Amino acid sequence: MSDQKLWQDGLASLNALLSDLSPAAKKPLLELLSGYRAGKESLAAITLAADSETICRDCAGQCCLNGKYRVNVFDGLSLCAAGISVMPDFSQKPLCPYSYAGGCILESGLRPLDCILFVCDSLEGRLPDSDRVDLTALENNLRKCLSEASQLLNIHLGIPLLLWAEKLTDQPIQNQRGI
Ligand code: SF4
Ligand code: SF4
Repeated sequence: MSDQKLWQDGLASLNALLSDLSPAAKKPLLELLSGYRAGKESLAAITLAADSETICRDCAGQCCLNGKYRVNVFDGLSLCAAGISVMPDFSQKPLCPYSYAGGCILESGLRPLDCILFVCDSLEGRLPDSDRVDLTALENNLRKCLSEASQLLNIHLGIPLLLWAEKLTDQPIQNQRGI
């Protein structure tokens, strides 16, 4: 199955999951998603203040190559909950399918967790110690959100969305819970 089809099927399944959730499960999930998005924005703001825009532009996004598996299931759920439709271009390999000439097509709060957490040596060297402490605390919170949401839905939300979608062809979403 093509990556494009896996992407579409994965998101369609997540949208269905969201609409089928009971109000009792949906409320805490939306709270976790809201914290997940806000945590990513805060983390990105710290690197932005260290002038990541200039540094990353000069580097031409070397850490953004081959990024098709960066979006995990919880990142996908975050896009669905926000009602944002993303059209990746899987044909532009080795460029990340979620990028365009101007950079990442995703705003910071909706970028993949792996991308948001990655701080290369060039960037890290610019951060004061206090920012490093903040980054660690934010990373821990993001991982906690992911873990709590996984427990809530009984789905391992940290796996790449495309790999998860591939399993949907063999096992419906209900049977995937717990893997
Ligand atoms: S985070 Fe580092 S490796 Fe990635 S684009 Fe920015 S400067 Fe380059
Ligand atoms: S999703 Fe965005 S930040 Fe992550 S690798 Fe792709 S272009 Fe880079």
